[in-house]
Parts: sequence; C-alpha cells; structure tokens
Amino acid sequence: MNILVINAGSSSLKYQLIEISKEEVLAKGLVERIGIEGSMLTHTAKGKEKLEIKEPMKDHKEAMGHVLHALTDKQFGIISDMSEINAVGHRVLHAAEKFSDSVIINDEVIAAIKECIKFGPLHNPANLMGIEACMATMPDTPMVAVFDTAFHQTMPKKAYLYGLSYDAYTEHGIRRYGFHGTSHKYVSQRLPKLLGKDKKDLKIITCHLGNGSSLAAVDGGKCVDTTMGLTPLAGVVMGTRCGDIDPAIVPHLMKEMNLNSEQMSDYMNKKCGVLGISGISSDFRDLDKASVEGNQRAKIAIEIFCYGVKKYIGAYAAAMGGVDAIVFTAGIGENNGALRAACVEGLEYMGVKMDEELNKNRGEMRISAADSKVEIWCVPTNEELMIAIDTFELCK
Ligand code: AMP
Repeated sequence: MNILVINAGSSSLKYQLIEISKEEVLAKGLVERIGIEGSMLTHTAKGKEKLEIKEPMKDHKEAMGHVLHALTDKQFGIISDMSEINAVGHRVLHAAEKFSDSVIINDEVIAAIKECIKFGPLHNPANLMGIEACMATMPDTPMVAVFDTAFHQTMPKKAYLYGLSYDAYTEHGIRRYGFHGTSHKYVSQRLPKLLGKDKKDLKIITCHLGNGSSLAAVDGGKCVDTTMGLTPLAGVVMGTRCGDIDPAIVPHLMKEMNLNSEQMSDYMNKKCGVLGISGISSDFRDLDKASVEGNQRAKIAIEIFCYGVKKYIGAYAAAMGGVDAIVFTAGIGENNGALRAACVEGLEYMGVKMDEELNKNRGEMRISAADSKVEIWCVPTNEELMIAIDTFELCK
C-alpha cells in the first residue's frame, strides 16, 4: 500500500510517497515559493534522476498537480498512475481538544481544523490548503489528518491547566496543548522496540531538540507532560523562540519597545532564543563555532539551552516518579553529541551516565554507559513514517 505524506506550509509543500509494508520511501520532494515568483519543485524517486521544475505555481492545487505529474512521470516518476496512491496523510498543526488521535478527513474534520486557526494562525490555514489541493486533485483517495497536538491529549489536567482563571480554559480554550507530537510518538514507540520491552513498562523522557525544541514525559506509552504550551513558543529556549518567560515581561516590553501584540508575538517567535541571546545565529553549528572561537554570547546561549533541557529532564523524572530512558532526536538531538552530553551532565546521581565514546557516533544507538541505570538513546525521528503508519491504520 502506498501512502502519500503531505506537509504543507504557507508557500511550500513537502511530500513523501511511502510503501508501507516495507516502510520504504519511494519518492520525495519539495515545492517552494508557491504563489510567489520563482516557484520550484524538486523531486527524487528511488533509482531515478533528480527532477527540478521551475514554473509559476499560483496555489497549492497547481503545486499538487505538478507533484502528481512528477510521481507518475515515465522518466522521473515511480508509479504509473494516481490509483497507485492508496491514501494521503496530512500533517496538521493544531487540533486543540478536538482530536486525540489521527482521523479520516471529512467535512467535520475540516471545520474543526478551521476552528483551530485561532491557535495556529500560520500553520492551520496552510495545512488546509494542502488538504484542499489534494481533495481537488485526488477526489476519490482517502485522506487522514495527523495532528502535532494529538499525542499530548493524554496529559492530566494538573499538567495542562495554567494558573489562570478557570474561564480562560472553559471560555477561551487556554491550556497546554503541546507540539511535535508526531515526533514524540514515533521515538517513544520506537525505543521500546529497540530495548525489546513493552512500552507500557517504560517511563521515557523524549527530547526533540531542533530549531524548535520540546520535551515530553511519556509514561507507559502515554504523554503525561510536555514543554510547549498553547502554542510552540513555550518551554526551553529555542533557535529563535524565547521559551518560558515571566508573563509580566510581555506588557512591560510592549510598552518599553512600543510594540503592538502582533509585533510582540513576532519578536518572541523570531528574534529571541539563542539567536537573540547570541546575536549571531539560530543554528547551533554556527554557535558552536563562535563559542570555540571565544564568543561569550554564543557560549552563554548554548549553556542556557542545555541548562533548560536538563531542568526539564529533572522535572519530568519527578513528574513520573522515575525515568527508564532518555531519548534525543531532531537536528541537534541526532547530530550534536557535545550538546547531548551537556544536557545530562551532572545527572549521575539520578543514574544517568553518558558513554563519551558512544556519544560521538550518529544514528540510532544507545549512548549511555553500560552501568547507567537510565538508558540514554539517540533515535532519529521520522515524522513522515509515523504519519504514513497512522494513515495506513485508518485506511487499510
Ligand atoms: P531541525 O529543526 O530538526 O532541522 O534542527 C535544526 C538544528 O539542528 C540546527 O540548530 C542545527 O545546528 C542542528 N543540526 C542539524 N544538522 C546538524 C549536524 N549535522 N551537526 C550538528 N548540528 C546539526
């Protein structure tokens, strides 16, 4: 069974065609600059040459037309016609409390995604454009929505309610929702398989550390807490997002810097984090380099990031009454051994001990010392595969 996985942004559309029985990527690609001058499709199918198409694509529907063309092209494609796409899985950012799992898309689901635009004003409309484009070009193919928030819906009230008046929750839906759910779900399901254990018997802290970063406490396969909140702005300091701050800073800085609410939101999302602290970059590779060269602001930015991750590891071990495994994933978690080590440094008293040599490697591997009570692992995330698996389960 072939599943097409779609991740639509406001001017981009990423896709993968996955053969589910072998979990094999048959083709993947990216359309950029949709609706902007310079639209471009880059497509690669297994065993075929790379295809690049530079043609105006005024909307997501036109972009999808090109994607389907590329997938079925004799020279660059991998399937002979559209009927070989059995189902489509769409990444969708925000479902608030409406869905705690992936769902087959129908009119009600579309209405629910629209209702959640107030919480995901940038992503949900773009995700909807991807869904509508696929429905227009593949009207008879079943579609599934896989939400970034769904995995976190198992959190208990004590973890998801804020210390605001209760009507902020009941009237306005203000609560912790959490994000990167598809990634946390994937690695927290993958690790028990690697350990040869049942997920029900494990307390796992999953650390998705990339340009956006979040941690989740996963007890018995269920998320019981996570660092991001109503939006992805909360939690640890990120590439350009500020993470947790004293809420009183918001009105204070709006007054001091003469910013309206949109400008303030833009500032906290795009100009803060390690970029804002260092004044150099949001990319940890640049920060590592600058820090080695003696840049003090780059050094402190890295320290703040690792300190934040470590604090949440401690908090989540406390929340779950222990921890059996810590998993690192995403760009930084998968590739930056020095940062991984700094995030668990000094946690030996909790039975967390890194193996320095193993931690120099990359890929899916244990990186804890043989005598570490807590397993530490690096598990590359695979959100596309997780979306394909969920889609398959609902459409088989
Ligand atoms: P992501 O958002 O998951 O793509 O992660 C982006 C972050 O991962 C950036 O801060 C990069 O510095 C970091 N990253 C990605 N690839 C590497 C790599 N090969 N080595 C070190 N850091 C990396």
